[in-house]
Amino acid sequence: MDKPASALTLFVRGLLNPAFPALIFLVFLGIALVLQYGLEEQDNSQIQSNLDNEAQSMASRLEREFLVHVDAIRRMAERFEAIPDMPREIWEQDARNYLSDFGVYQAIEWIDRNYMIRWMEPYEGNEDAIGYNVAFSPERLDSLQQAQTSGNLDISGVIDLKQGGKGLVIYAPVFSGDANNGFIAGVFRMDVLARHLLTSSALEFFHIEIRDGGEPAYELNSSTNTDPGFSRTLDIDLPTIDWALTVTPSVSWVEDQRSSWPFVTFVIMLFMGLLTSLTTLLVQLILKRNQALLKTRRELDAEINQRQAVQKDLARLETTDTLTGLANRRFFMEDLAHTLSIADRQMRQVALVMIDLDRFQMLNDSLGHQFGDELLIKVSERLNALSDEKVMVAYSGGDEFMVCQQHVGDIDDVINLLGQIKQCFEEPFDVQGDQHGITATMGVAVYPQSGLDADTLMRNADVALYRAKEQGRNTYQFYTEGMQDREVMRLELDKDLDHALANDEFVLYFQPQLDLNDSSINSVEALIRWQHPRRGLLPPVDFIPLAEESGRITDIGRWVVLAACRQLAKWQNGPHANLRIAVNLSGRELDDENIVDHIQDALESNGVPAERLEVELTEEIFIQNIEHNLNQLSRLHKLGIHLAIDDFGVGYSSLGYLRDFPVDLLKIDSSFITEVAERHDDAVITRAVINLAHNLGIQVVAEGVETREQFDFLKNHRCDLIQGYLISRPIPAAELEKALNAGLLNMDTPVGT
Ligand code: C2E
Ligand code: CA
Ligand code: CA
Repeated sequence: MDKPASALTLFVRGLLNPAFPALIFLVFLGIALVLQYGLEEQDNSQIQSNLDNEAQSMASRLEREFLVHVDAIRRMAERFEAIPDMPREIWEQDARNYLSDFGVYQAIEWIDRNYMIRWMEPYEGNEDAIGYNVAFSPERLDSLQQAQTSGNLDISGVIDLKQGGKGLVIYAPVFSGDANNGFIAGVFRMDVLARHLLTSSALEFFHIEIRDGGEPAYELNSSTNTDPGFSRTLDIDLPTIDWALTVTPSVSWVEDQRSSWPFVTFVIMLFMGLLTSLTTLLVQLILKRNQALLKTRRELDAEINQRQAVQKDLARLETTDTLTGLANRRFFMEDLAHTLSIADRQMRQVALVMIDLDRFQMLNDSLGHQFGDELLIKVSERLNALSDEKVMVAYSGGDEFMVCQQHVGDIDDVINLLGQIKQCFEEPFDVQGDQHGITATMGVAVYPQSGLDADTLMRNADVALYRAKEQGRNTYQFYTEGMQDREVMRLELDKDLDHALANDEFVLYFQPQLDLNDSSINSVEALIRWQHPRRGLLPPVDFIPLAEESGRITDIGRWVVLAACRQLAKWQNGPHANLRIAVNLSGRELDDENIVDHIQDALESNGVPAERLEVELTEEIFIQNIEHNLNQLSRLHKLGIHLAIDDFGVGYSSLGYLRDFPVDLLKIDSSFITEVAERHDDAVITRAVINLAHNLGIQVVAEGVETREQFDFLKNHRCDLIQGYLISRPIPAAELEKALNAGLLNMDTPVGT
């Protein structure tokens, strides 16, 4: 994992930590506390400045009032100077006026130059003070003497008044120096002074202390519950005295001054903190829920994937064939369709090979299904070895396999693959303890030439396979354009074949066999033709395989036998009474239990001796279903019917059966004759077959003789009979008769077109 991602995950993890909302709350709490502290500090300084103002105004008022009173006393002294013989009554009247104008004074006195209180107003209540010497201490005396000399005011400190309580006396000298006539003195009571000078609010909310020369002199509201955090001390500017005023507010005043903002701010911040952390908590819950959902989703996804994998496995099981383990037809077709869609884009060719095991049905029938299954498994194993990323092998069912070659560059790639497939069948297969040689026939269709979709390609590969089978098996055939037409025709013919017998559309052509010993014609081969109402005369290759597949061959075979016997009956008493007719019987026809009886009936009902009839059978009859076929052939032989082996030399190389079967004639296949004059090995084989047959007392017929060279070779090597276009093509009976009558059936004049 890269670094920023891990940092991010760490960050997210931190965000989701349960401690995170608590942390947020604590941060807000911190901010709230700091703000509150700051605001409180500000508030305190505001309170302090309010207190300062309050104290300042108190001090100024004190100073002002005090000076007014001092002035008043001084004026009284000046008036006493102006009227030296002022009678006592006048003085008392004056003093009374002053007292009522300046209600702060406790009393106004005249003190003589020997410091004795002489007059006093009001008199009542102060009688005790008359005659009292105010220079009661050396300091007082000294101070008063100085005032007498200088004419300046003297103010006593706060003293215990004679009248009781704390008080203060202002002495204004009447004349100075030797002329001094004592003092006019004003007596204050401190509490009265304070009450008078200070506002009522000051009295209510503050503890006030007056210090005189640093010493506590007077205290007001000493019982007030003060806030020790605040206090203000101010010097008071008064003549001759050194006072300081200390103002300490009461708790309730401070509380009044206090702003509620610090608390409100604190609460708001706390509330915000609470909200933010709750929001964070909520977001965390949502995120966690989301994560849980995501996790569930991932788990679901994983489960879905798992299920899909299981389904894929199931699908794979559905795509394979249980017997062979190869892909089945359905899957193969799907894959082929997919391959074609890709090939189209990549401009590639794709080859589809259909493989059909030769003789499998026969082996399966005669050796059992168990054997068949084992053989199929063995074949599958070998074919499957060819499969890789470009080649897919599948089992189509029955004895058919399919191979798809995906990346075909050119046709050589396909030929190469076909060679590999063929090689799979080179070695015999070991099944149930025995070795069995098996060959395969293949049909090939190549995309895009032989079809643009999987179905067409498959159908055309099938058509090609069918053609390959017709050509004699153990080979392959590529699909070509014309095959499709033939296929359509084949299907139509298959339908028409239903009515052919009833409509009497079959005819027999006859091809003579020339006896090389005496150049005589003693036998003819009956070859069937179909006079098709629309398509004209059709050769057997167009319908015999169809009839074999559908089983209609049995009825056709019976018709052939019957038609041959009728022909023999016609010739019986004429110039061609010597002719023998050879009819072809396929393996399927011989499977029919009643065929021998039928032949016998046909001969008898037409009054034809059995030795006039010959039966041609292909080699496979002597290999397959041996017991049954041997029985059938023996019965035919007993009847006196000649037996011939047709197409000798192709397919089965075992000659052992020649000993066991009652064979009269052996027909060397035309494939050996075609180049017998040119090819050494064909010549060797033909010679060997002739010798072998003669050793066994069997006559030999060479088929497909077309040239003089072939004729010469065969005659030189003592072949008994020849059959071929050199003498005559297969022709209708009437034509044959004509040719015989005209003596045309020799190597000089080929008959028939
Ligand atoms: P086959 O029994 O081998 O018949 C010989 C085939 O070779 C005939 O073909 C014949 O026309 C052809 N042929 C003869 N001489 C020459 C020659 O010199 N050159 C060439 N190129 N061909 C020659 P056809 O008549 O088309 O018959 C084909 C096959 O159909 C026969 O092969 C036979 O297997 C089958 N067939 C014919 N008639 C019957 C029938 O009545 N019943 C059954 N089951 N099969 C029949
Ligand atoms: Ca034949
Ligand atoms: Ca033949």
